[in-house]
Amino acid sequence: MTKPVDTDLLIADVRALEPGEGVVAAWVRISGGKIAELGSRDTMPSDCPRRIDGAGRLLTPGLIDIHTHGIEQYVYEPDPEQIVAASRRLGRYGTTCVLPTLCAMLAPERIGELASLAAALSQSDGASMPGFHLEGPFLALPGAGVRTMAGDLGFLEELWAAAGGKIAAMSISPEVPNILPVIERLRKLGVVPLITHTRATVEQTQAAIDAGARHATHFYDVFPLPEETDPGVRPAGAVEAVLADPRCSADVVADGVHVHPTAIRAVAAAKGFRNLILATDSNIGAGLPPGVYDSPLGKVKTGSAARLHRPGLPGDGCLAGSTLTMDRGMANLFDWLDWPEEQIWAVGSGNAARLLGLTAKGTLRVGADADLVLWKQTAAGPRAVCTWVAGRCVFDSNEE
Ligand SMILES: [Zn+2]
Repeated sequence: MTKPVDTDLLIADVRALEPGEGVVAAWVRISGGKIAELGSRDTMPSDCPRRIDGAGRLLTPGLIDIHTHGIEQYVYEPDPEQIVAASRRLGRYGTTCVLPTLCAMLAPERIGELASLAAALSQSDGASMPGFHLEGPFLALPGAGVRTMAGDLGFLEELWAAAGGKIAAMSISPEVPNILPVIERLRKLGVVPLITHTRATVEQTQAAIDAGARHATHFYDVFPLPEETDPGVRPAGAVEAVLADPRCSADVVADGVHVHPTAIRAVAAAKGFRNLILATDSNIGAGLPPGVYDSPLGKVKTGSAARLHRPGLPGDGCLAGSTLTMDRGMANLFDWLDWPEEQIWAVGSGNAARLLGLTAKGTLRVGADADLVLWKQTAAGPRAVCTWVAGRCVFDSNEE
């Protein structure tokens, strides 16, 4: 059951942290789903009828996951009910906004299914879902369930119409034929193009960035090393082009399996804290104990990551996303990066909001959406105590 909007709720005695800046307030007042007011200890309102004692805990904007295929027993494609059910499970991980990421169903013969899925986005009453991330189909390299095809403006328009415009981001590969007009069209539509699944050259990657692709998703993963053709000469490719270009940001799957922590430190050093984003690429089973789960891709075996489970058949053991949740990803980044806390919180929330143009999210500014998480510190990292989306409590650890 969801609760009514918390009108005029005071979250008192907290360390309220603005991503990228630091602790900025000791209390936050929510009204009408927005942040109405915040301030220092000596200005705390005494007349607010509803009040929560934060016990000195950290309060941050909620985490935003731009690349996720599922959570717990739910996957975002192709069943609309699973989208709604998943949205209710995300608050416990401190996640208040996700882009449900679709790949397998991005085929001309399945385009009709997109409309009902898109309708489910506005029915989700937990984490907010401003639009889909389409992982494909204009990609060069396949992965579990991912389609590959040349850039096709006509098919792009069909996808856009079928999704009712609810596409926030689309993954593309720079070396796919006819991709530059697709990138330019995505920018005009307000869809963020994301570079991935690529073996592109430096020049192809630069051309995609010039055309408007300014972010790489699940960076390093499915960005294979270029072949060494002249022994002693280290080849450069899409990874180096992304690292070198200050216009381009990147997200990483910080589970310790998809990307080595040293590679994360390298992209962190190249990009700085404003241009690094945490994403999960989570699949069914994320947040649940290791096991074998039925997904639209077939059986998936989970542990430190999600892998296809088809013993004796091709593809068995192939990586099929992660079992990471955003809070665990944050805990890993706190372990691996020697950055102040406010910079690491920017990697989990404010930076994704900026990439997506969600100006009312990822910040504690007055007037911003009251998407908030009260955290407790544990030996395993930060854990959500209470999570609000648009001022409504969607998770309360005291009720578990
Ligand atoms: Zn992928």
